[in-house]
Amino acid sequence: KRIRCCTAAGCQSSGSEAVKQALEEAIATAGLKKEVEVASVGCLRFCGRGPLVATDPDGMLYEEVTTADAVSIAASLQGETATAQPCDPHQPFFAGQMPIVLENSGQIDPERIEEYIAVGGYEPLYQALYEMTPAQVIEEITKSGLRGRGGGGYPTGLKWATVAKMPGEQKYVICNADEGDPGAFMDRSVLESDPHRVLEGMAIAGYAISANRGFIYVRAEYPLAIAHLNKAIQQAKKYGLLGSQIFESGFDFKIDIRIGAGAFVCGEETALIHSIEGGRGNPRPRPPYPAEAGLWGCPTLINNVETYANITPIIRRGADWYSQIGTEGSKGTKVFALTGQVKNTGLIEVPMGTTLHQIVAEMGGGASEGQVKAVQTGGPSGGCIPAEFFDTPVDYESLQRLGTMMGSGGMIIMDNSTSMVEIAQFYMDFCRGESCGKCVPCRAGTVQLHEMLTKIVNRQATLADIEQMEALCQMVKEMSLCGLGQSAPNPVLSTLRYFKDEYLALLQQD
Ligand code: SF4
Repeated sequence: KRIRCCTAAGCQSSGSEAVKQALEEAIATAGLKKEVEVASVGCLRFCGRGPLVATDPDGMLYEEVTTADAVSIAASLQGETATAQPCDPHQPFFAGQMPIVLENSGQIDPERIEEYIAVGGYEPLYQALYEMTPAQVIEEITKSGLRGRGGGGYPTGLKWATVAKMPGEQKYVICNADEGDPGAFMDRSVLESDPHRVLEGMAIAGYAISANRGFIYVRAEYPLAIAHLNKAIQQAKKYGLLGSQIFESGFDFKIDIRIGAGAFVCGEETALIHSIEGGRGNPRPRPPYPAEAGLWGCPTLINNVETYANITPIIRRGADWYSQIGTEGSKGTKVFALTGQVKNTGLIEVPMGTTLHQIVAEMGGGASEGQVKAVQTGGPSGGCIPAEFFDTPVDYESLQRLGTMMGSGGMIIMDNSTSMVEIAQFYMDFCRGESCGKCVPCRAGTVQLHEMLTKIVNRQATLADIEQMEALCQMVKEMSLCGLGQSAPNPVLSTLRYFKDEYLALLQQD
C-alpha cells in the first residue's frame, strides 16, 4: 500500500511537506510502517486544490489535505472512511486529459531513479542505441509529426536532421528550461516531477545528432526543479545511463546544468547560448542559426523541456502511434497551465485539437465568478481570444489565425470584470522591463507603447493616439531584432482586434 503526497512546488506552497510528515507519523502510530509507504511524488495536476494526496491501491485522491486529516487517511487504508475532502478523479478536469508527457507525474518519486526505471525508464535510450541507427531515430521523430513545444512549433525531426547533417566534430544539445511567460509552469512541473524523462530525451537527441555534451538552461527561480535535476544527473551517472559508455555502447553523453538569472530574453535561443557561454544574454541576428553555428560556434540543437519529454514515448511506442493523436498539422498532446479567473486551476495535458470550450468551460469549470470573457495564450508574445471563438480547436495554425499563438502553454482565463486595455498595458510593461535594449525599435518602442496604453487607461488619449499606437505596433513588430520585440505588440494588436470598443470607451471626452 502506498500514500502518494504531491511535493512539487505548487503543493509545497500550500503546506504539503507538513502533511507528508503528519502522514508518516500517523502510519507509524498505527503500526503500518511495514505495509504502507508514504512517498513524495510530483505534480498531481489539480494545483489549485493542494495539498493533494493519493492512496493506492484504492485510487482515492484527496484535496486541500491538512495535517489534521493524516490519521483518518492512514485509517482509510484499513477500510475506514477518511474525513479528508475527496477529489473525484473522474471529474471533467481529469477526464478530458491524455497524460503522455505527464504520465509519470504524480505516480513516481522523482528523486528515485529506481522508480523511473521500474516504469520502463531508460529502455527507449537502450532501444535507440542498440536497435536503431541515428538516422532511424531522426526518421522516427520526423514521422511522429512532433513540433517544438517552446512556442514556435518548428518540426522537431527537421531540426534534428539539420544539426545531424552539419559538419564538425563537436556538437551540442541544449534544453531550454528558461520558462518565463507569466502564468506558465508546465516545464517547471515536468522537471520537478519527472526529470529523468527529460535527461533521457536529451541523450537520445545526442545520439541522433552525434553530440556528446548537453546543457540544461534552467531559471534560478526554480530551485526544486534544479535540485531534482542535479540529483537525477548524479543517479543516472551512477547507473551508467549518462556519462561515458552508456549501456557499454560506445556512446558518451554528459549533461550539465546552467542556471539563468531570470531574464525573460534568455529564453530566446541566441541569448540563451550567449548566457551559457558566460556572456551577457543578448540575442544576435539569425542566420546563422544555432543548428549551423550555436554554442561556441558549433552546431547546436535547442529544444524545450516538453519537446524532450515527448521523445521517450515516441521511441517506445512508435511514430505511427504518436501521429494518430492530435490534428493533421499538430500531432500529439500539449500541456497547459490553466490559471487566472477559472474555477479549476492546474496542469492539464490534452490532445492537440481539443477546443478552447472543452478546456476552459468543461475542464476548467468556467469562470470562478461571473462569465469567461477571454483566454490569453502565448504569454507576452501571444494574444487574447474572446469567448465567441471558444469552439476553436487548439492547434498551432488555428491559434495563429486568431492572432495569437500556442506559446509554451500558459493559458490565463479572464472574466468579464477584466479590462482588456489594462491587460495589454500589463504585458507591455512586462516587455519593456524585459527588453535587453540592444535594438532601438524594441528598447524605445515598448516604452512608448506602454506610455500610450497608460494614456488610454487614464482617459487622456484621442482616436489619433490609438491610430498612432497601431502604427507603432507594426513598426516594432517588423523592425525588432529578436522574437521578444517582434511579438511584444501582439497583446495590444489582439485586444485592439477583438475589444476595440473598450479602447474607444476610454477615449478623452471633451
Ligand atoms: Fe533586445 Fe528587444 Fe532587440 Fe530582442 S528585440 S534584441 S529583446 S532590444
